[in-house]
Amino acid sequence: MELSVSTLARSPLTRRLAATALALAALTAAPALPAQADAARARPAPEPISTARGAGQSVALTFDDGPHGADTERLLDVLRAYRVKAVFCLQGDQVAADPDLVRRIAAEGHTLCNHSVRHDDLGTATAAQVRADLEATNALIRWAVPDAEIPYFRAPYGSWGVSARVAQRLDMEPLGWTFAVEDWEEPGAEVIAQRVRERLQPRSVILMHDGGGDRSGTVDAVETLIPELRLAGWRFTLPAKRA
Ligand SMILES: [Zn+2]
Repeated sequence: MELSVSTLARSPLTRRLAATALALAALTAAPALPAQADAARARPAPEPISTARGAGQSVALTFDDGPHGADTERLLDVLRAYRVKAVFCLQGDQVAADPDLVRRIAAEGHTLCNHSVRHDDLGTATAAQVRADLEATNALIRWAVPDAEIPYFRAPYGSWGVSARVAQRLDMEPLGWTFAVEDWEEPGAEVIAQRVRERLQPRSVILMHDGGGDRSGTVDAVETLIPELRLAGWRFTLPAKRA
C-alpha cells in the first residue's frame, strides 16, 4: 500500500509520528552529502554476510518484503510450532501498514532486518539518499517496535551500490544469501521445497519471501521442510556474525 502521513496519523501509535515524518521527509529532501561519506568511499565495501552461524548442517531462514498479512501470520505460526527463529527483512511501507504484525515478529524472538522503505533499487543512489532511506525504514520499524534491534540491512534486488557501507555506518551488517528459492515465481510449495533440497549446502542462508505476492506456497514449503530437514540432521540458526 502507499505510505502517507495520513495513514500513520490514523494509527493510535502517534508517539513516533514526528520522528517518522521527519525521516520520510529526508527521503525526498535529498540532503547534502555528509562529510564522512567521502572517507567511507575510500574503504572497500563490506562483503554481505552469506553464510549461517554454526558449523556443518546449519541453515538460516530469511524472509523478505513483509510483513504481509495472512502469509506472515501463518509463517509465524509455523515457526513458533517448530521453535525456529528466522530473519525478517522488513519493508518500511509494509511496516506502516501493519505495525501490529511487526510487533508480533519481534515479540516471538525473530531477528529484524531493514529492507528499505519502498523496495527501491538503491544501486545507483548516493550515500546520502541511501542513508535517508535506511534511517526512515528504521524509524518506521521503531515506530512499531520502540527500541527494536535491527542488526541487518538487505538491499532490494541485491542491488548494493554504496548501501553496504552506509548500512555498516548505521550499525547494520549487510545481509546477503547463499541461494534464493525464486518464490516470486509462485511456483507452488512442492517446487519451492525441491529447490531447497537441491541447493542446500552447509551453512546456507536461504532467501525467501513472506511479502510481495501470494506467499502461501512459501509458507507451505517451510512447513514441510523444517521437520524434514531436522530429521536429516540440519539445525536452524541465524546468519553468521562478522569475524
Ligand atoms: Zn525484497
